[in-house]
Amino acid sequence: MKKPVCVTKAKIEEIAKTYPTPFYVYDEKGIRENAKAVQEAFSWNKGFREYFAVKATPNPRLIQILSEYGCGTDCSSMTELMLSKALGLPGEKIMFSSNDTPAEEYTYANELGAIINLDDITHIDFCEEACGGKLPETMSCRYNPGGVFTMSNGIMDNPGDAKYGMTTEQMFEAYRILKSKGVKNFGMHAFLASNTVTNEYYPKLAGELFELAVKLQKETGVKITFINLSGGVGVPYRPEQEANDICVIGEGVRKVYEEILVPAGMGDVAIYTEMGRFMLAPYGSLVTKAIHEKHTHKEYIGVDACAVNLMRPAMYGAYHHITVLGKEDAPLDHTYDVTGSLCENNDKFAIDRQLPKIEMGDYLYIHDAGAHGYAMGYNYNGKLKCAELLLKEDGSVELIRRAETPKDYFATLDQFEIYHKLGF
Ligand SMILES: *Cc1c(COP(=O)(O)O)cnc(C)c1O
Repeated sequence: MKKPVCVTKAKIEEIAKTYPTPFYVYDEKGIRENAKAVQEAFSWNKGFREYFAVKATPNPRLIQILSEYGCGTDCSSMTELMLSKALGLPGEKIMFSSNDTPAEEYTYANELGAIINLDDITHIDFCEEACGGKLPETMSCRYNPGGVFTMSNGIMDNPGDAKYGMTTEQMFEAYRILKSKGVKNFGMHAFLASNTVTNEYYPKLAGELFELAVKLQKETGVKITFINLSGGVGVPYRPEQEANDICVIGEGVRKVYEEILVPAGMGDVAIYTEMGRFMLAPYGSLVTKAIHEKHTHKEYIGVDACAVNLMRPAMYGAYHHITVLGKEDAPLDHTYDVTGSLCENNDKFAIDRQLPKIEMGDYLYIHDAGAHGYAMGYNYNGKLKCAELLLKEDGSVELIRRAETPKDYFATLDQFEIYHKLGF
């Protein structure tokens, strides 16, 4: 089965004259259409806002495009907060959903006026101290009901094993304490399943959260102003999978909202989301060139990218579809392992994959790498991270992050005069 590509072989050959492979290509048109669809799907909710999960794709140019559709950012660290500040986002458009949080990150988030989402009840005092003895007026708490989270198609996840969030009892206790400390507006957050390829996840999660919110508001007297469904909406990495329909998802959430929140007099609660993968994964690909073929106990194609550029296959055994550009319609009559150059045997973009016959110099288009792709990279084996390019709607290409150079790699070894020795 095939998956559509956003560039032709000819276009890549032209781009590669200026920017050598490997590189990421992001499809501006796809990003914009999807961001618009997300806004429309939740337009029934007056306060709706998507806080894009920065960790998925921390590129300011891409986040700026999303912000044109009203998106804010969801941050998990100091540098993600700094990036949000540099983008000029106002505090209410910055969500800080962190865990195991260092004090200085709470201090900084508070300075920016970001919305702080507490991962644990013990963070109340910790955060208060980090905020100079006074908590912000708006605070959120992260919920973890424990157990397993199942949906009708059998997809499930294991909140009971997850390090995040507070138990039901702790949620009640946390809201009471926060209220006694002067907090005025309350939010609630949960992330219970990852990469869900079903339209059922958000509505099911929303139902659980809405019921808890009604109880919490009744029993503790707090004013719940938003419910944050977080991330977890997935994408079809495999060509045979059916994509989520965000419009159906939005309607599903509306239905439970009208069943549970509206009758409880909570029809003014804003719905927030923190999607990362769904916003960008399908609109970014890693383009890499075949540079070696090896015939030993298996057939290998060595490419010029490695797990440093895209770690998901090595890290989780994740499937990423591969199209050999210019051979979209060729028969898939060869079985290859497609490998990178790391001295790690898990550095394989595909194992036993049916592909057309690959010639040296062919360009491989690795799909659905637009989220948790570039961002997850590291520098093992001293390999450098590649460039990111934006394929604009008019067909032109914009460099939105240059490739790393050896100078970047050595930048933290100040005392060894490596720059000097290498003549940089
Ligand atoms: C990772 C993460 C997200 C984004 O998750 P996706 O699966 O990319 O949608 C959102 N919120 C929090 C707190 C996260 O850790």
